[in-house]
Amino acid sequence: MAKKYCYLFTEGNANMRELLGGKGANLAEMTNIGLPVPQGFTISTEACTQYYEDGRQINPEIMAEINEYIVKMEEVTGKKFGDLENPLLVSVRSGARASMPGMMDTILNLGLNEQVVEVMAKKSNNPRWAWDCYRRFIQMYSDVVMEVGKKYFEELIDKMKEEKGVKQDVELTAEDLKELANQFKAEYKAKIGNDFPTDPKEQLIGAVKAVFRSWDNPRANVYRRDNDIPYSWGTAVNVQAMAFGNMGDNCGTGVAFTRDPATGEKKMMGEFLTNAQGEDVVAGVRTPMPIQEMANKFPAAYEQFVKVCEILENHYHDMQDMEFTIENEKLYMLQTRNGKRTAQAALQIAVDLVKEGHKTEQEAVLMIDPRNLDTLLHPQFDAKALKAATPMGKGLGASPGAACGQVVFSAEDAEAWKNAGKKVILVRLETSPEDITGMKAAQGILTVRGGMTSHAAVVARGMGKCCVSGCGDIAMDEENKKFTLNGKTYYEGDYISINGSTGAIYDGIIPTVDAEISGNFGTIMGWADKFRTLKVRTNADTPADAKKARELGAEGIGLCRTEHMFFEADRIAAFREMICADTAAEREVALEKILPYQQSDFEIFRLWACHAPISVRVGTRSTVRLSI
Ligand code: ADP
Ligand code: MG
Repeated sequence: MAKKYCYLFTEGNANMRELLGGKGANLAEMTNIGLPVPQGFTISTEACTQYYEDGRQINPEIMAEINEYIVKMEEVTGKKFGDLENPLLVSVRSGARASMPGMMDTILNLGLNEQVVEVMAKKSNNPRWAWDCYRRFIQMYSDVVMEVGKKYFEELIDKMKEEKGVKQDVELTAEDLKELANQFKAEYKAKIGNDFPTDPKEQLIGAVKAVFRSWDNPRANVYRRDNDIPYSWGTAVNVQAMAFGNMGDNCGTGVAFTRDPATGEKKMMGEFLTNAQGEDVVAGVRTPMPIQEMANKFPAAYEQFVKVCEILENHYHDMQDMEFTIENEKLYMLQTRNGKRTAQAALQIAVDLVKEGHKTEQEAVLMIDPRNLDTLLHPQFDAKALKAATPMGKGLGASPGAACGQVVFSAEDAEAWKNAGKKVILVRLETSPEDITGMKAAQGILTVRGGMTSHAAVVARGMGKCCVSGCGDIAMDEENKKFTLNGKTYYEGDYISINGSTGAIYDGIIPTVDAEISGNFGTIMGWADKFRTLKVRTNADTPADAKKARELGAEGIGLCRTEHMFFEADRIAAFREMICADTAAEREVALEKILPYQQSDFEIFRLWACHAPISVRVGTRSTVRLSI
């Protein structure tokens, strides 16, 4: 039997994400559980891999199946491509197995041409809507399929707004939008050389190819590399009937989470815009309203949406991130997926889901990405305060945690200010080994130069101290103790806050909260302890490290590098003496000085490590296991 490449939404389900992509599988699943989803079909990820295998071509077999599914879709929706009575307009949407938000391309209102738009304008008695759809379609198609830069069209819109003396897109009239559509088509012809395509099927194939092609665009490639998503997976393409959020003030579009993705609080969070479509909410063309205001604008649709949220959470047993549109006060669901969340929210949600009976303790533990927990072992910004803050700059998140304090420019100042009871952030062009004491005294470190492996970054991570490195936007004047960032000059003593997990730098004070394995974190770790089969040993080089690790629950020392015991001022002198000794006798003398330090350190290790073995690394190569 020939391979199947297309699936109606009614033919798929949530378990088919490898074939249908996350978006397609969930559109099918939402259809199956009876939610209002504009219907359509998904072209599988295998069609995408085949497209690449065939040298970036859609082969005749797949083409025939797509045509067959257009007919099926026309039957399901009762509308037809290019029809003057009842035209079918669709969106063409990418959707990989793993969610890659905003990385690939989407085209809306496909199927429009000069005749269809005229008829649509007349029949609906809403020419503004018809022309708004058309100009959006030309704009997106030109950008995504033909790669005519967005900016040319945006410039034309800005010009039109200026001419008409209006500020927002929604204030443009049907006539203005019609004029814009004509200007767009002229722009298209000038850039491409041909007329804008009028045949909806030709438009569709162009769009499908563009989505396949977008799998290989630079930003998608970078995202995949950062998130360990294999190139070989390919993306699916969803062809979906349009729901129109731009027909007037009883329409709108929005995005929402079933719970707060920053804190995990069980409270719907989201935004929506009336008389808008697609990316308007995220693109920032107008300021969206909080989702709760929908209750006043569209009470019935809002009530229905609240129910849908509940149905989806009960179905997926996890927090959902959804996209929806309201057409003439009727709700349509366009997307759902498990929502991305902060580490703190992940814990809150996992614990709540167990309490609510959605997850077992074991499942809750598996929901947590261990990589994110690192940030929770360090001080963090108070979540509420952080929400209100906007970063003024960004460097590399070199060592996790959050810090807030007064700017100082040298290690000596850091120590002196600390001794005077102040909290400081040490800001340096770059740090060197002499800065270590200053780094210790500071709440956090910010450097202008250096990457993730720079001195500041490595040392800060070792200390468990927050560090943002390599913020090249800073204009530094160490000598005069000041720097400029984002147009503002900061002097010694000014307050800044930095986030070593994200690299964000903030003006002023954002309060931090200390790491504690208590609350939700404690609960989850308690559950993890029940199920784990590995013992956890720490990497500790000094008694202070060992003590901290013990507090955080370590059961032994896995690696102890003895050289780090000798970094402190009094010890390093003896160590240098040993290295520089010219004779064996001199070396013996130096070793005698070192011995008591080392002995006393190991005494302390033994005190808490009990009978657990300690592996000690001497120098850089040899590791010996000590049982003490
Ligand atoms: P992304 O993966 O970047 O989120 P989407 O495919 O979800 O891209 O499309 C972006 C937006 O376009 C959606 O959030 C929705 O607002 C709009 N959209 C997509 N398909 C439709 C449709 N059939 N009807 C109305 N709006 C749509
Ligand atoms: Mg989306």
